[in-house]
Amino acid sequence: MHPIPTHNLGFPRIGADRELKRALEAYWRGDLSREALEDTGRTLRRRHWQQQADAGLSWIPTGDFAWYDQVLTLSATLGNVPLRHRAEALAENNEPAARSECGCSEPIDTPEAPEGPCRQVDLDTLFRMARGRAPSGTASSACEMTKWFDTNYHYLVPEFHPDQTFELSYRQIIDETREAVALGHRVKPVILGPLSYLWLGKEKADFDRLSLLDALLPAYQQLLDALAEAGAEWVQIDEPILVLDLPLAWQQAFEPSYHRLQSRAVKVLLATYFGALGENLSTAVQLPVAGLHIDAVRAPEQLLSVVDRLPVHKVLSVGAIDGRNIWRTDLQTARETLADVAERLGDRLWLAPSCSLLHVPVDLGREQTLDPELKSWLAFALQKVDEVVALAQLLAPAPAPSALAALKASDQSVRSRRESQRVHNPAVQERLRAISPTDSQRHSPFAKRIAQQQALLQLPEFPTTTIGSFPQTDDIRQARRAYKQGQMSEVAYRNRMRQAIADAIVRQEQLGLDVLVHGEAERNDMVEYFGEQLDGYAFTRFGWVQSYGSRCVKPPIIYGDVARPHAMTTQWARYAQSLSRKPVKGMLTGPITMLFWSFVRNDQPRSVTARQIALALRDEVNDLEACGIQIIQIDEPALREGLPLKRKEWGEYLDWAVEAFRLSASGVSDETQIHTHMCYSEFNDIIDAIAALDADVITIETSRSQGELLDAFEQFAYPNDIGPGVYDIHSPNVPPVEAMVNLMEQAARRLPKERLWVNPDCGLKTRGWAETEAALANMVRAARRLRERSRESA
Ligand code: GLN
Ligand code: ZN
Repeated sequence: MHPIPTHNLGFPRIGADRELKRALEAYWRGDLSREALEDTGRTLRRRHWQQQADAGLSWIPTGDFAWYDQVLTLSATLGNVPLRHRAEALAENNEPAARSECGCSEPIDTPEAPEGPCRQVDLDTLFRMARGRAPSGTASSACEMTKWFDTNYHYLVPEFHPDQTFELSYRQIIDETREAVALGHRVKPVILGPLSYLWLGKEKADFDRLSLLDALLPAYQQLLDALAEAGAEWVQIDEPILVLDLPLAWQQAFEPSYHRLQSRAVKVLLATYFGALGENLSTAVQLPVAGLHIDAVRAPEQLLSVVDRLPVHKVLSVGAIDGRNIWRTDLQTARETLADVAERLGDRLWLAPSCSLLHVPVDLGREQTLDPELKSWLAFALQKVDEVVALAQLLAPAPAPSALAALKASDQSVRSRRESQRVHNPAVQERLRAISPTDSQRHSPFAKRIAQQQALLQLPEFPTTTIGSFPQTDDIRQARRAYKQGQMSEVAYRNRMRQAIADAIVRQEQLGLDVLVHGEAERNDMVEYFGEQLDGYAFTRFGWVQSYGSRCVKPPIIYGDVARPHAMTTQWARYAQSLSRKPVKGMLTGPITMLFWSFVRNDQPRSVTARQIALALRDEVNDLEACGIQIIQIDEPALREGLPLKRKEWGEYLDWAVEAFRLSASGVSDETQIHTHMCYSEFNDIIDAIAALDADVITIETSRSQGELLDAFEQFAYPNDIGPGVYDIHSPNVPPVEAMVNLMEQAARRLPKERLWVNPDCGLKTRGWAETEAALANMVRAARRLRERSRESA
């Protein structure tokens, strides 16, 4: 029997020390030369290829390195560069597009249709597309950015125009393939397939982007030819949209497209991941390609049906190692599951991680301070590559000693995790069992609650508030850092934070806002702040994962039953409230967001973990109420991104997500007002779930698609209070009073004006004080004008 071939779908490009981030940012600032930046990239690629080759992979990926994003690289490769970003067509006097820290992108300006493919692409073209600017040259608005499937990675959305043409225009993937081959590696370039590429983009005029397929395929053929010439025997073409519910026309477009891409000098491995092929299974197995990769971690149930239906000449690459999470593989179980498959497929079986390792940190070995037991349960990218190789050997008749040692270590880890008291907390489990349906219900319906809240709060019509955070000045960040590193005493730190809170309260009083916030100075990150105080959460030192461009996040790891050993926010909330007679909102991150912005347990359903977090937050909500806080906001910016990729699974998800939110919010009396906040505006398809949250007030982002959003709320007859964000916090511009008044008047035409609040569309932590105060002063003016007009018309 042959050794089972192994490969990888992609390696994290950012570097174990985030070298790429640092180099990129220095280059953008003008502190690093282009040569030095290119050098950093080369060093990283070289290192990552060598590490994967040393681990023993049969095929090393190329094309997974990107200066900003792999979809962006592909756009450039295909000559799909918006006119406004082309070197030859850079307009003067365009406003630079700011990219906020929260990852939202600016709306793009009205683009013109390009005349033909762009022929002069270089690094700076990529940066203009991604950031609206490059170190030299004028500014233009950046391409839109959005989440890559259900991950927290963001890609640059391709823009499409009718009559667009494509042509091989940028050779990075080809050059890098050559580079790897020259170093002696056996490579397998990775590119996103034509249908997924079109699907993930956006039409910039009224037409159907699928109609561009004919124009697009020749450019793919050019690319495949060039990759063959560079030395590739196999090319991995990713078509992750095959795990989505596709419209018929898209599904049917696969077969003719891949027929056209055939007969090239390379063999194609068609890769799917993030779910089961489902309805697209026959399409996928029948395509005229040499191999198929499936995700057997997210969708283990599809393995046997794919094996049954795969034509006998095709290779099946089984994604058996979880590329989306940080847990070590249970090698014994994987070996048992795959033994039959290996027997049946013989040398047609390949092994790999389930998807690109882009979504996990680079090297667990660097975590010197992590608890050793917890560490023994984990695997990052490098360790996952080792697991792939070990698993392949374990499926061979006489596994190497190193593979047997890996198996033994894996067994030990499985046992320790299953039995560890760090993971299993009987008190939490008992509490979960005792949950009753009334626990997720407020005492009275909204109409009754709001009357009681009004009587207590005495807020004016069109009450004004903000979303929680205020500018995080350098001084605040420095204090937090110094305290964390032990250079500032607890007392000094507390005083510094109190000072920031007092300052925020004074400013809000002066501005005349109605419902105040403490400003969140003590929070570095809305999940980390709470995770650090909860049992069951762990934090790594170097566990960075690319979120977009040079930005990385370090998601916490939820490894055990979640419990709250002590109150988390009450000292700050109580202090803030003591400074004002106006209500100060308590501010929490909701259970769904706490879940989705972390690496989650794979040994119990996410719904159970969500419920545990919800109970911990419920205690916090109740404690805030007990110390006199009358309004508590539970942020859920991640609710929508948790939606499963397949529509038929939405209902189940929304049920448990809504229940978790309600569980956290329903321990308080009717007079306590619960707010929630979400920073997106696509509500049409989940509006019933939003209403089912039964928050007394919801504040949302609207400044970019006001009309559509309000339509959804109007059509649904949304019953509770709502604050449609009246200005976009991602822009430093000060919004004019009239614009905000208009916006609110439009809202008041669709929704009862008694239900409306006036607020910005998100938190203000990325802004400076000057613009923040100017914007809020106008916002308060707008609210006053609205009240006057409302009185006049009464
Ligand atoms: N309360 C948080 C803040 O104001 C909300 C952040 C968010 O919506 N992402 O910063
Ligand atoms: Zn927000």
